[in-house]
Amino acid sequence: MALTVANSLQVEHVDWGQLDTILLDMDGTLLDLAFDNHFWGTIIPEQWGRNNGLDLPASQHHLAPLFAAEQGSLNWYCLDFWGQTLELDISAIKTTYADGIRWRPQAETFLSRLWSSHLDVVLITNAHPVTLEIKAEKLPLAKWFNKMVSSHSYGAPKETTMFWEALIADRPFNPQRTLFIDDSEHVLDAAQSYGIGHLITLRQPDSSLPPKTNTRHPSIHHFEEIMQGLPTIG
Ligand SMILES: [Mg+2]
Repeated sequence: MALTVANSLQVEHVDWGQLDTILLDMDGTLLDLAFDNHFWGTIIPEQWGRNNGLDLPASQHHLAPLFAAEQGSLNWYCLDFWGQTLELDISAIKTTYADGIRWRPQAETFLSRLWSSHLDVVLITNAHPVTLEIKAEKLPLAKWFNKMVSSHSYGAPKETTMFWEALIADRPFNPQRTLFIDDSEHVLDAAQSYGIGHLITLRQPDSSLPPKTNTRHPSIHHFEEIMQGLPTIG
């Protein structure tokens, strides 16, 4: 096993020599999910409420079931879907608030060390290609990856087998020698069913919320916990 895990499901060590590929999620893994939670939980309900004569709590109350119904589907991540449903220019609003897009602690250091390693480094995100573009414009993301994949290009989110079949056809990898890090445990469940050998989740995807105290998959708080054994730059 490339991962050593303590009883509490905290990852103690990653044996990088047993891995060829690392798959990394974007939001809540490399980037602070506080931006997305604030955007969808406050900014969008505020704007939608303004157009529909509702204050923020009433608008949030109205939109909550709409959002809940789409969770885990590709629509949930689709700017076009929400643009049409809510009659808002979501990408324009997102660009206005782009200053809130931030790295998670140590994410850049981790990426730079992965980049100088032997690993194939691949970003796999459910974010819409336009969201990916806005984020990659705001932060120097693209330079750390051999490939960046939005699940929209496969027409299936990471929660589905179809996604994993499309990914392996697009960018062949050995599932047993692959580590996948994602803050969504539902996504990790799908990766596990598909046969991805090594999975890690994050205990604090959103810096504005307290860290999770228990996770079903092996977890880390910060990347420094697993950086040992990766080459340092210079
Ligand atoms: Mg995520």
